[in-house]
Parts: sequence; structure tokens; C-alpha cells
Amino acid sequence: MLSRVALILAALALAAVAFAAGPDEHRPSWHREPILWKQSRSLGKPWAGRLVNGVQLPSEGAQYFTWDPILKTTPNRPWRRWGSDRLVRILLHVLDGYFDAHPEAPRVAVGDLSRPQGGTFDERFGGIGHASHQNGLDIDVYYPRIDGQERAPERASEVDRALAQDLVTRFVRAGATNIFVGPRLGLRGPHRVVEPLRHHDNHLHVRIRRDPGRRLILGRSTRGRPIEAVRVGDPTGRPRILVIGCVHGNECAGVAATRQLERARPQADLWVVHHLNPDGYALGRRQNARGVDLNRNFDSEWEPMGRRWSPEYSGPRPFSERESRIARRLILGLRPDVTIWFHQPQAVVRAWGPSIPEARTYARLAGVKFKPIRWPAGTAPNWQNHRLPGKPAFVVELPPGPLSPRDAERHVRTILGLTQ
Ligand SMILES: [Zn+2]
Ligand SMILES: [Zn+2]
Repeated sequence: MLSRVALILAALALAAVAFAAGPDEHRPSWHREPILWKQSRSLGKPWAGRLVNGVQLPSEGAQYFTWDPILKTTPNRPWRRWGSDRLVRILLHVLDGYFDAHPEAPRVAVGDLSRPQGGTFDERFGGIGHASHQNGLDIDVYYPRIDGQERAPERASEVDRALAQDLVTRFVRAGATNIFVGPRLGLRGPHRVVEPLRHHDNHLHVRIRRDPGRRLILGRSTRGRPIEAVRVGDPTGRPRILVIGCVHGNECAGVAATRQLERARPQADLWVVHHLNPDGYALGRRQNARGVDLNRNFDSEWEPMGRRWSPEYSGPRPFSERESRIARRLILGLRPDVTIWFHQPQAVVRAWGPSIPEARTYARLAGVKFKPIRWPAGTAPNWQNHRLPGKPAFVVELPPGPLSPRDAERHVRTILGLTQ
């Protein structure tokens, strides 16, 4: 999560960057081992600290392999690959954008993070050791090689500088506080963030701030608008509930409820995304800026439907859209116990299969009609039912038009009721 200051900085950085049209290509995402997400705590300083509840970076994935700087081989040894959840998320977010922009680039080599519980990572652990890398906020990333070989470059001449610069820029944009780069590479960035340092001619060292706040920029829409999640409740509380205010850009009445929800202080771990489809909202259209119905773009019983700008265009393939991938990453990261998707205009709570009982409860508490309706192909709740069994996800269809403050309050009370 980013502090307010970081949020503003990130927003400014986004505004400053001109955006190319949304990319079409995307690598299927996989990780050699599953990522066990936890809420990490980074204690002390990067050069004198510890890591609690760290997350292990898998040995390799679709977009990266890990490199052992001591044994000079891949994968890196498992105990050298622990970071805070935020660091791992930022890495994956940066790689996602990088491969959107450079689908043909070789996988990125990732070196040391921290040890499983952090602490000293000096020469006793091989080589010249690290002065920092102690509390899960530091990561070494090797520069892309010109020849595309899957190994760390050894000298500056082996480095693809354009790709290296792009990685640096993306880490800056993602909120890195320090990036150490090789003095010989001429890599640039804001001077307080990007600094040349000896021993960095084959990798960049990225440091992020510790998790300070409740706002998290999940990524950007096709047109470059930030998509943000807000953590409202107690991170250690349960259940964990996720509420999406608007996914179809012309059905955004639910945002009135999620804005109210943002001011609540429940004991549960409550997460809110006001706008998953900010481009559609800006255009006043159901679809995203590429004419895709995001709620037909999820990878469950997905089938090709319609074409660009037709009401239920599924997109060329599951998760072809940035916005649905952002939702996927958030949902798989959070594994919410309950997910609520606001839509319009049918004035009904709808669900299917394993989500029915919880949806019925919601309908009863909110005083709204419940209807069991089979999920259309490729919808988000359908995908969630398959990916996260036992964790209901359902749709609350609000009536047409704006939501009155009283009705918004009723839904807020209902959601808070589910948290008890
Ligand atoms: Zn380092
Ligand atoms: Zn809808």
C-alpha cells in the first residue's frame, strides 16, 4: 500500500507519462511454485532489520527466473528469495507492465531479496554480501541481456540499455524509494531515487518503502488511469470482504455505496475498489476502452462472444484485458471470503451455485429480491467460484439511476452486517 504522499507521487508520475494504446499481447501467467501471500511486516531498517510473515518468490515464472549470485546458476536458492508481500507484488506488477510493452523480451533475472526472517545478509552468506536486504524491502534485478541468454550479465557491454532503462523507469513509477544502478550504464531517473553505485553494473538494486497506508494502486487501465483499492478494515480481522463498486462503466451507482463504505471502520478486513473500469466510466460505456465487456473476460467457461463494442464482447481470449488481469491479481492475492460486485439496473441480488446462500443472506439483510441466475460465460463471480471454492462471490444489481443516500446507507449496513 502506498502512503498518501506516495499515492500523489504515483498519480503525478502517471499523469506525466504519455500512454501508448493498450497492448494486445500478454504472457500467460504462471509461477513454478504457488505464492503463499501473507501480510508481511518489515521491522527496523533495510540495513538493520527483520522480516515477519515474508513471502517467498517462486523459483521462476512466466516473466522471470531467479539467479543465484554466488553459485552463478538458476534458480536462486530458496532461502535467498523472501520479501514483504508488497515487494513481491510490486515486482510482479512491474514485470506485467514490462512484458505488456515488450512481449518478445527475455525473462527477467531476479537475484537476492531477503532471508526467510530477514536479518543480516553479509559476506557470511557468500560473495561480498549485502549491507541491506534485511527486512524484505530490497530486491536485486539483473539488467536484460542483449543476447537474451537466461543468465546474469557480467559486464555493462552485455546489457540491453533500452530495456534496462525501461525497467528502472517502471520501478520508479511503482513507487521505489531507491534504485542503485551501475555507474557505467547511464541509466536515468529522479536523482533522489536513481543513484549510481559501485558493484551494480550487472544489476539494479530496488528498495521500496514499507507498507504504510491503506491505498494500493493495483495498476492502470488501458488508457492509463490508476485503478485503486482501499483497505478499510483491520488487516488482521476476518472475514475478508471485497466490494467492487463498478465494473460496467455505465452501471456505477454502487460507487455511492463504496464511497460511504470507505469511511467505515469495521473489525473485518474490508477492501473496496470503486472503479475497476475507469475508462468505461469516463466514456459512459459498459465496456472498457477496447470495447470489451470485462465481465465476460474471465477464464471460467469463457467463450468467444460478440465483437468490439457489442454489449457482451468477451475479448479475444480470457484475461486479454488489463482491467480483468488487475482484478485477477487482486482477488488471488486477497482470496476474499466474500466478494460483492455492484451492477445495474435490475434491482435484484443474483448468484449461482456455491454463492447462493451468502447472496440470499445479503438480499434478506438489504431487503432486496434474490434470484438464482446461472452465471454467463466468462464472468468474474463464476471464475471466483471455480478458483476459490468456499468463497462466495455474487452480484448486487441496483435499480436504474443514481443510488439515493438512504439506499446507499442500506447497502453499507448490509455489507458491514456480513462482516459480523
Ligand atoms: Zn542489492
Ligand atoms: Zn453489469
